[in-house]
Amino acid sequence: MQNYLVKRLRIILSITCAFALSVSAFAVPDDRNKPGDDKKDKAKKDDTTKVLLSAAEIIEETETELPDTLEISFPSHDLYSTWNTETAHPYNFKESFRCDSVQIQLTSEYDCGFTPPFCGYLTSLYGWRKYRPHYGTDIDLETGEHVRAAFDGMVRVARYYKGYGNCVIIRHNNGLETVYAHLSKLLVESGQQIESGTVVGLGGNTGHSRGSHLHFEIRYLGQAIDAQDVIDFEKGELISNTFVLRKNDVENKYDLRALHSRYKSDLGLAYGNYKDKNGKSYKLYYVRKGDNLSRIAKRNRTTVSAICKKNGIKPTTILKPGRKLKI
Ligand SMILES: [Zn+2]
Repeated sequence: MQNYLVKRLRIILSITCAFALSVSAFAVPDDRNKPGDDKKDKAKKDDTTKVLLSAAEIIEETETELPDTLEISFPSHDLYSTWNTETAHPYNFKESFRCDSVQIQLTSEYDCGFTPPFCGYLTSLYGWRKYRPHYGTDIDLETGEHVRAAFDGMVRVARYYKGYGNCVIIRHNNGLETVYAHLSKLLVESGQQIESGTVVGLGGNTGHSRGSHLHFEIRYLGQAIDAQDVIDFEKGELISNTFVLRKNDVENKYDLRALHSRYKSDLGLAYGNYKDKNGKSYKLYYVRKGDNLSRIAKRNRTTVSAICKKNGIKPTTILKPGRKLKI
């Protein structure tokens, strides 16, 4: 009876979440949105973290006596404004993170501690790859090997998701979310409460993956953190039980896309991938001191006339430093 009740509650929960999803008009990232790249997702303001079920609804479903109102709280509900079971990273970190730093206590005496998601060689680390950011740490494994939850928490996403392939995303009690991607099989479902060490899936090679491996990410309010700053993968343990996330570190270390743009800008190159209202794509260039159109054109492998046409200017237009040009 207990199991039946839990199952019914889970059904009601998923219906409520599905409804919340349908009314909040989520912007599903397009194909250009690479796995782990949350920059194109918009901030969601709806509060679906607490679902209030009236007694009438429950009694109708279960025909048992229950308190007047049953409140189900998702992990870290005071921190996150949404509980979204469909989208990987539906948050806007910059809007939500309004302090200079936060101290995160990774495990507490009330939960089961930490378990390494998989013990194996690291094959790719956090950082910028040739064409895109890599927000995870890749761990070599064989298809079918067990992948485990790092901390206690609740499964938020358990589905095939674009480049991630079969993927599990867990919201933890400590405020973090962890991502387990390219799995061959999912062994948990969204809404499921799990403990550190629970096998969440079998390792695999699904999604954008060449060869079996686990792509593992740690995020806070959607912002990816280098997992190697939290976990000593060689020893299979946490570096420390507290992790301090500083705004400074996000700007100088973790926000790969912004860092890449800054790097390109420093080299005098246009950056970004924007679209105008006619759907034509362009990059942005910030005019620097001493620039002229022919120099900008040469550096960015385009022509003066093309720049003039895109920006509605003449070859003789005087460019002030700091002016934005479409390239
Ligand atoms: Zn990866």
